[in-house]
Amino acid sequence: MNIQTIGIVGAGQMGNGIAHVMALAGYDVMLTDVSGDALKRAMETIQGNLARQAGRGKISEADMEKALGRIKTTETLTDLGQSDLIIEAATERETVKQAIFEDLLPVIKPDTILTSNTSSISITRLASRTDRPEKFMGFHFMNPVPVMQLVELIRGIATDEETFAACKEVVDRLGKTAASAEDFPAFIVNRILMPMINEAVYTLYEGVGSVQSIDSSMKLGANHPMGPLELADFIGLDTCLAIMNVLHDGLADTKYRPCPLLTKYVEAGWLGRKSQRGFYDYRGETPVPTR
Ligand code: NAD
Repeated sequence: MNIQTIGIVGAGQMGNGIAHVMALAGYDVMLTDVSGDALKRAMETIQGNLARQAGRGKISEADMEKALGRIKTTETLTDLGQSDLIIEAATERETVKQAIFEDLLPVIKPDTILTSNTSSISITRLASRTDRPEKFMGFHFMNPVPVMQLVELIRGIATDEETFAACKEVVDRLGKTAASAEDFPAFIVNRILMPMINEAVYTLYEGVGSVQSIDSSMKLGANHPMGPLELADFIGLDTCLAIMNVLHDGLADTKYRPCPLLTKYVEAGWLGRKSQRGFYDYRGETPVPTR
């Protein structure tokens, strides 16, 4: 299957990153969002990030101009009708995603591959509500997309080999590495990462260590580039809690119960970097541990 035109639904944090890497790899991109402001911000972000790469000599000015020329934006979802591959990266709500696929079905080509960048919604369930479960799969990028090397490719129960191979070829052309994952809650990276973060919060909750000692222990003792609490603040504590709940509900195992202290931080609105406070307080010059 020859993929040349890629439709991206949702121009938020993930959507703009996906558009960036696809255009740089030579794909024609049609980026859509319900919000015109989001599209405008996405193009500014892409331009800024490409300019930074050009400034560091990672790409040429010509590559940057060509990539920008390959991205078109639209507020009309059905303009994605001619896409060979569609990557849905809209808000993480099942009803939103379901409605997007429903609206796309009447206008897309018979062989268009549908994918979702969801972190937690069942690929098999999303696929079952379309006319092509065999041409549907999870295409899960990591944040920030232009920087992170991994893409998880998730097969739903009906996904066929041709669809997997076509998506794997796209990941290869991006110069990224694909990991194949089955469709179970949180896939691979979050299945392993989130319980570790949750355990770090339990370690704090039980007074085994302070924020500082936990983070430096994992950096210096396990060679992690960031401590687990620092990383939780970067990801967003609400996102961490939501993923723990997905694991807890989906796998029905008490080992995934979210730490009450994680819930408390979220209740306080201390969500990490994005709200300027989490396990660290980011309002001053340097982050200060909050416990
Ligand atoms: P975001 O909130 O930054 O962006 C979502 C965008 O979707 C918004 O611009 C919103 O206007 C748009 N949108 C909402 N409804 C829409 C519709 N019906 N049609 C078109 N656009 C619509 O969210 P994000 O962080 O970019 O996450 C997007 C997806 O990527 C989610 O499924 C999320 O689980 C997944 N994901 C996120 C991360 C992360 O670290 N943020 C990592 C991997 C995967």
